[in-house]
Amino acid sequence: MDYRHEGKRVQYDVIIVGGGPAGMSAALILGRCRRRVLICDHGRPRNRFAREMHGYLSRDCVPPAEFRAVACEQLKPYGVEWCDGEVKRTCTTDGGFLVTLANGTEITCRKLLLATGVEDELPRVKGIQALYGTSVHHCPYCDGWEHRDERIAVYGRGKNGAGLALSLTTWSADVVLCTDGMTRIPELEAQRLRRKNIDVRMEPIARLEGREGKLETIVFRDGTSIVRDAMFFSSGQHQQSPLAKMMGCIFNRKGTVRTNRLEGTEIPGLYVAGDASRDVQMVIVAAAEGAKAGFAINRSLQEEEFLTVA
Ligand SMILES: Cc1cc2nc3c(=O)[nH]c(=O)nc-3n(C[C@H](O)[C@H](O)[C@H](O)COP(=O)(O)OP(=O)(O)OC[C@H]3O[C@@H](n4cnc5c(N)ncnc54)[C@H](O)[C@@H]3O)c2cc1C
Repeated sequence: MDYRHEGKRVQYDVIIVGGGPAGMSAALILGRCRRRVLICDHGRPRNRFAREMHGYLSRDCVPPAEFRAVACEQLKPYGVEWCDGEVKRTCTTDGGFLVTLANGTEITCRKLLLATGVEDELPRVKGIQALYGTSVHHCPYCDGWEHRDERIAVYGRGKNGAGLALSLTTWSADVVLCTDGMTRIPELEAQRLRRKNIDVRMEPIARLEGREGKLETIVFRDGTSIVRDAMFFSSGQHQQSPLAKMMGCIFNRKGTVRTNRLEGTEIPGLYVAGDASRDVQMVIVAAAEGAKAGFAINRSLQEEEFLTVA
């Protein structure tokens, strides 16, 4: 099935898979470059669980849905098109890419940007889902300020858990590390935890208790409990979409895609921006990476056009 716009088959200059901050920022740059752009998105932005987003200059404390709505509105004057739905497959073709939607529709483009983000792996602890995004978080840079001087728990094992607990002491002097079972903490980190008076609780956790999104108590399986106001966790993440792997992208140790300075991959014409590609995972950084990808894509399209004899 061909993708048709107003009854006509369309070849896009650029298809962007993922309409989060990275994808929409790239679309803004490319729309302003008069490129024909289509964003395909299935409506699962990473921060959809959060009430507010923090750390974006001029947008601090704005709800993520409001940020998204304003961004969508600002793309309209530039003719950027939007398609609700999942992209199931992407592959290279002669001179471009073929994108296949979940409903079987096929769309072609000259350049492809994957801005598909990552998905967090929540600890498997009873009660966590109701608190996630309000008093349970993964990133101190995003939500540490909101819990400054509170009673904080960190959920994590080994070196990573210890590292996150130590990091949280920037925001509060009352931090407890909960490892949810026995774990080995390297001596250097163990010494630092002691120096910072961070208690380590290795008992398996039974559940989290709280009200209206606010954590109150961590109950251990042995029946003991601790009172805590917030919890930060370090338990991993993975790519939200398998498309980058399908395209043969190279991944770094953290499981994000290796790209060059302007978000290009080893596959000519394919770019990856936002959380899917780099290590600092924040909205403002994702938007900046999207803008860089937009710039690089337009330059590459221009180069091709300069080579074409009219
Ligand atoms: C709970 C929480 C709170 C956060 N708070 C903050 C904060 O306060 N400040 C901050 O700076 N950062 C925060 N972050 C991090 C922030 O959400 C990310 O850095 C940012 O969203 C990355 O943008 P992105 O465009 O790369 O990906 P995303 O925003 O995740 O967007 C990816 C988009 O791609 C779409 N998609 C994926 N695969 C496909 C497919 N196959 N087909 C179609 N569409 C697809 C998804 O539907 C999604 O809309 C938070 C994250 C979480 C989880």
